[in-house]
Amino acid sequence: MNRDLICIICPRGCMLHVEEQNGELCVSGNACPRGKQYAIDECTNPLRTITSIVRVSNREDTMVSVKTANPIPKGKIFDAMEKIRAVSVEAPVKIGDVILNDVFGADIVATKDVE
Ligand code: SF4
Repeated sequence: MNRDLICIICPRGCMLHVEEQNGELCVSGNACPRGKQYAIDECTNPLRTITSIVRVSNREDTMVSVKTANPIPKGKIFDAMEKIRAVSVEAPVKIGDVILNDVFGADIVATKDVE
């Protein structure tokens, strides 16, 4: 495997190069260890935090913003979005309220208050 990617962990945006040597992934171009871990994760089990909105059923034309409480596998994003689209909540909603439990390993939580 040979792969180039940009580290998105911090604004510096290091250009990373990943090469497989003797069954191990070797990372270069990273200015710190977080970049190395990011590159390895990206090549073996890429994860993403997703954001979306959920309808508030007892408020006219109102949505509440939500996100995964922790990253989920990148390959599950569309399935997770389907689950999020299928639910609605009732106000009041507080930041951090769990809207959906365990969607591919992450709770879906509110990111704003709706009174
Ligand atoms: S490798 Fe380290 S310094 Fe470079 S972008 Fe990633 S986190 Fe930032």
